[in-house]
Amino acid sequence: MNQKVKENILQKIKQYDKIFLFRHVRNDGDCVGATKGLKAILQATFPQKKIYLIDADTAQYLEFMGPEDAPVAEEEYRDALGIVLDTASVGRISNPNFSKVVELIKIDHHIPVEPYGDIMWVEEERSSCCEMIVDFYRTFADELVLTKEAATHLYTGMVTDSGRFKYTGVTGETLRNAAVLLDAGVDTETLFARLYLEAFEYLKFKAYIYEKMCVTENGVAYIYVDKAMQEKFGLTQEQASAVVGNLDSIRGCICWMALIDNPDGSIRVRLRSRFVKISDLAEKYHGGGHACASGATCYSTEEMEALIRDADALVKDYKEHNEGWL
Ligand code: AMP
Repeated sequence: MNQKVKENILQKIKQYDKIFLFRHVRNDGDCVGATKGLKAILQATFPQKKIYLIDADTAQYLEFMGPEDAPVAEEEYRDALGIVLDTASVGRISNPNFSKVVELIKIDHHIPVEPYGDIMWVEEERSSCCEMIVDFYRTFADELVLTKEAATHLYTGMVTDSGRFKYTGVTGETLRNAAVLLDAGVDTETLFARLYLEAFEYLKFKAYIYEKMCVTENGVAYIYVDKAMQEKFGLTQEQASAVVGNLDSIRGCICWMALIDNPDGSIRVRLRSRFVKISDLAEKYHGGGHACASGATCYSTEEMEALIRDADALVKDYKEHNEGWL
């Protein structure tokens, strides 16, 4: 698939001595894994090239993946190639210096919100951007070098973005790509421990979440992690945002979301679903994303309530017109 565009990308990589890798704000396992994984592949394959990954911060739960490069002068970008991974729109690119590079390549698996870059390789049916990087490696396996480090980064992204290979985007090809990474020596026992062990105190917070969560008439589960709740448990924004994962297994609730007070007064919405598509709803509320995993922002509690009502109506309509949901 997309053989020509992949050939163009490899040709550009060969052409430049300096390459900057970019990802999205509020980084997650996939964008961190894809940038670090591609960086490790390129460094092992082209040791003479300078490959940079510069980002202001990494999510706390991903710090085990290692630090980013130190910032460089802006002039450094001006004769470089840029590759943006896992980022649907320019507004979400975390390092603003992406605009200074000579040529920009977009590699992404999100529903395209806005085209950008000189070369675009977008496959929205892929379960993760990391999967695309593995596919890229496999396409040119006789030329590129996959190290254990690269494989571990890419496997981390594949695992986290696919819900441990559970979401519908996972195909036979996903697992064939993952198999290549396992063959490269990923230590899954350590990786899963790093990703999924939880502190005792966090389990207490989880219990509180289950106590406080709400379910709408037609089956939307939601929890509002307001400022007071964040303070009560001393939560970071990241910990507060993670609660969405706790609502994903309620029978009949085919849509669930976490609404998190941001420090600036807005409310971050993390929407998730099974069977029913929720990305259009996210777009209506200043966001977007995938069919079953999207993000949005509300600017008042009234807007938040309107979003919850809309989600409920969406689920009602879906349940009325479809069978087989659980
Ligand atoms: P999140 O709940 O922040 O993990 O977002 C879920 C998915 O939706 C991720 O793939 C994000 O990249 C995407 N997403 C989140 N917020 C936005 C936004 N404002 N615009 C477009 N896509 C978004």
